[in-house]
Amino acid sequence: MDEKYRMLIDGKLVQASTGATMEIVNPADGKAFAIAPKGSPVEVGKAVDAAWDAQPGWASMYSGERGKFLFKLAELIRKEYDELWRLETMQYGGPRSKTANFDIPVAADMLEWMAGIGRGLSGLTLPVGSSARAMTVREPLGVLGLITPWNFPLVTAIAKVAPALITGNTCVLKPPSCAPLTVLRLAEFAVEAGLPAGVLNIVTGHGSSVGEALVVHPKVAKINFTGDSSTGKRIMSLASSAVKPVASELGGKNAFIVLDDADLDAAVEGAIWGSFFNSGQNCGSCSRLFVQEGIYGRFVERFVEAARRLPMGDPLKPETMIGPVAYKGHRDSIERFVEGAGRSNAGLLLGGERPSSAETKNGFFVAPTIFEECDPKSEFMQEEIFGPVVGLTRFKTPDEAVALTNDTRYGLCASVWTKDVRLGMVMANQIKAGTVWINQHLAIVFEIPWGGCKESGWSKENSTLALEEYTMQKHVWIDLAGTPQTPWQDLIRQ
Ligand code: NDP
Repeated sequence: MDEKYRMLIDGKLVQASTGATMEIVNPADGKAFAIAPKGSPVEVGKAVDAAWDAQPGWASMYSGERGKFLFKLAELIRKEYDELWRLETMQYGGPRSKTANFDIPVAADMLEWMAGIGRGLSGLTLPVGSSARAMTVREPLGVLGLITPWNFPLVTAIAKVAPALITGNTCVLKPPSCAPLTVLRLAEFAVEAGLPAGVLNIVTGHGSSVGEALVVHPKVAKINFTGDSSTGKRIMSLASSAVKPVASELGGKNAFIVLDDADLDAAVEGAIWGSFFNSGQNCGSCSRLFVQEGIYGRFVERFVEAARRLPMGDPLKPETMIGPVAYKGHRDSIERFVEGAGRSNAGLLLGGERPSSAETKNGFFVAPTIFEECDPKSEFMQEEIFGPVVGLTRFKTPDEAVALTNDTRYGLCASVWTKDVRLGMVMANQIKAGTVWINQHLAIVFEIPWGGCKESGWSKENSTLALEEYTMQKHVWIDLAGTPQTPWQDLIRQ
């Protein structure tokens, strides 16, 4: 059992003051393999105080100097690449094909990109006549509370820490309880990089104690949260008593629309990727597939065959595409949704049974599962399931597909597959979602803003727009006339 992990508070690597710990379980075999500290509101208080004390000095530093620390963190992440992708895979089951090729390189790249673009922050000068000069100045918010989920543990943490720090904020980061280890390695890298004490603090522990203590702490200026919509609502309600802003990246129930004229090969490939990447544990996964009646039969046959061939098993093997889902309770929840769909009129085309091979029988695996002729109003098609399970529904017209797509409380992303790009663009205009791809799904790069609408949350991550979540615009007015020039001037100067 690996017991080396520590939280980061005020520049020091520490255990919980109570000595409490949490076991980290490998979902591929159901066995605990590491121990992490289980923090409490006491640690949150210490971490916030440290961040509060460090913030003025950090904010007054030239942004290029702050950026050097981000470059150093990126260097350390790259240096420990092999350990980190392995750890990521072992703590939440993301296949090596994802963690090694995506999570670790992207985390390092994100730090460097933010270290660069964060230096370009600027304000406006505003035309108010020759007797004054007015401008806006972008300022950090202060101490930020960053709360992250388990499906991209290091990447999601970096996507918040990097813009928070480059813009002059200090922060307290709370990673997910089931998968905190790569973020706890980041704690060690921060010490090695010489990051000033208190600038980045990391407190592990449960959302109901550590997370909520962070949300309500009066010295925390803003919460930046990624996770489930119901957790987001709870956080917003707790934060509302202090009118504390909450940036939220929440759940999705994303549509994949295939029109009759779509390139069949491309649409099948896009649907497999969009449905099953990271075993469907992506906020942007397409879990509702709407297929036009003329292409329905051909699409379904090809889609099911391709899904059947996806290699499932030990996520440490390079060829594995479907690993276990993150933890036992999550596997059980997915199975309940599948059982519910099985009791409806939907037709099961693939999966539906717990995998039982030598590699999967002890872990928390869910095989790719596909239902057809799903009722779009059913629980299966309305609730975020967050696993390798998808439902197909047939439609007749593009207008019907748009209506089906918008018939959800979520609004994260959608895609339209057609050779008629004009029609695709018309449909994109009508779809209520933060991202609409045409002939693509799950193309997410730093340069493009990511975020949704409705119950998927309203903030933006990635792109220069992300920096706005971490700063405020202050207006500064300078009188040039030598006297305030108020309408009451004659009255007052009599
Ligand atoms: P959760 O909402 O369960 O947890 C997210 C984080 O919030 C964890 O650190 C958790 O801590 C913490 N938390 C839980 N309860 C509270 C609380 N009452 N107060 C403060 N913090 C709390 O989400 P999951 O980890 O299960 O992640 C999956 C979800 O994340 C999916 O809904 C997915 O769609 C969404 N997501 C959205 C993305 C987007 O960009 N829109 C990107 C990635 C994921 P603990 O682990 O201790 O419970």
